[in-house]
Amino acid sequence: MAKTLSPVCKLCRREGEKLFLKGERCFTPKCSFEKRSFAPGQHGRTAGRGGGRGKGTGRVSDFARQLRAKQKARRIYGVLERQFRRYYDTAITRRGLTGLNLLQILESRLDNVVFRLGFASSRSQARLLVTHGHFTVNGRRTDVPSMLLGEGDVIAVREGSGKLTYFKDLAVYTEKRSAPIWLSRDIKSMAGSVARMPERIEIDGSLDEQLIVEYYSRR
Ligand code: SF4
Repeated sequence: MAKTLSPVCKLCRREGEKLFLKGERCFTPKCSFEKRSFAPGQHGRTAGRGGGRGKGTGRVSDFARQLRAKQKARRIYGVLERQFRRYYDTAITRRGLTGLNLLQILESRLDNVVFRLGFASSRSQARLLVTHGHFTVNGRRTDVPSMLLGEGDVIAVREGSGKLTYFKDLAVYTEKRSAPIWLSRDIKSMAGSVARMPERIEIDGSLDEQLIVEYYSRR
């Protein structure tokens, strides 16, 4: 399972913005970014978040911006570097814009789809639920959060898991969470499917896929 070792909220402080990695908590005053928005570490209050400011110039280098864009996407989707690179390599081979292909691959991960369907409050929670085998894809139980889904794939809460308190209470929470239109959802049966791949406008607008492409193109 993809796992980053640093405490989750530090990642937001490192990126200098809220990445919404902890579900409901991110929308409450308990969000630690509301209290400490400077970067972690000894020089956090004074250092630039770009991580690559030239000495004394105050300018953020192109490389630093590309690196931060890549790290931000990686952290939001909870993907390790090697796997992220593999996604990029796959994105190149597909037809169309590499950046959009990459974002679509990230969006089509099973843990992301479970989160987007509103069956979990964060991607990390979705990852845990999938790892514990609480979901089926096209009727077959799976515990692989990184599984890539395609058009027509059906995701459902496993029959046995529906009896657990979490899933019994889930409908109330899921109703409050909207699902994107590229997914279809049936709250009553705790299932959903991929109607089509998302268009760029339906994916997090704060992600800069062009910078990510530039980052990998120079390596
Ligand atoms: Fe980031 Fe959420 Fe932690 Fe706030 S609570 S710092 S948004 S992960």
